[in-house]
Amino acid sequence: MTEQTLAERLAALREARVVLVSACLLGEACRYDGKSKSSSRVMQALEGKELVPVCPETGAGLGIPRPAVELRGGTGEAVLAGQARAVVAATGEDRTAEFRHGAELALEAARRFGVKVAVLKERSPSCGSQGTHVDGGVVSGRGVTAALLHSAGITVLSDEEL
Ligand code: SF4
Repeated sequence: MTEQTLAERLAALREARVVLVSACLLGEACRYDGKSKSSSRVMQALEGKELVPVCPETGAGLGIPRPAVELRGGTGEAVLAGQARAVVAATGEDRTAEFRHGAELALEAARRFGVKVAVLKERSPSCGSQGTHVDGGVVSGRGVTAALLHSAGITVLSDEEL
């Protein structure tokens, strides 16, 4: 998908009837640390819309809480291309298959409900869309789920862009 400006992505959100959302932004305690990241800004922006909550990581069977994961060798696009990996930051255990699977489940849900716009949690190695954790730091780019949704033509916004 070609890159849209923020104004274009916000306009797409305003017009959307149904929106895919990171479940943690809606108050689901599904983050790696067992907490949620509920956001009144997100709730306000999504008022009146039908919501499709997804958590790619728990959807793929990773538990709550779970060890923090970061990408190694590149952002979400590189993971999808087989050129980078998702690993437990503390131990290096590979979680690439789970991250890819979680992204595929999110895309499947988006297709099932006719979703054209997603609002995802910033900086997550799955959901980050402007920044994500790579090689020990936050870099500009997408996590694995955000990358797959973007490549499928879905407009992705970060909670911090609303
Ligand atoms: S950021 Fe995405 S993967 Fe992480 S807890 Fe929220 S919904 Fe799940």
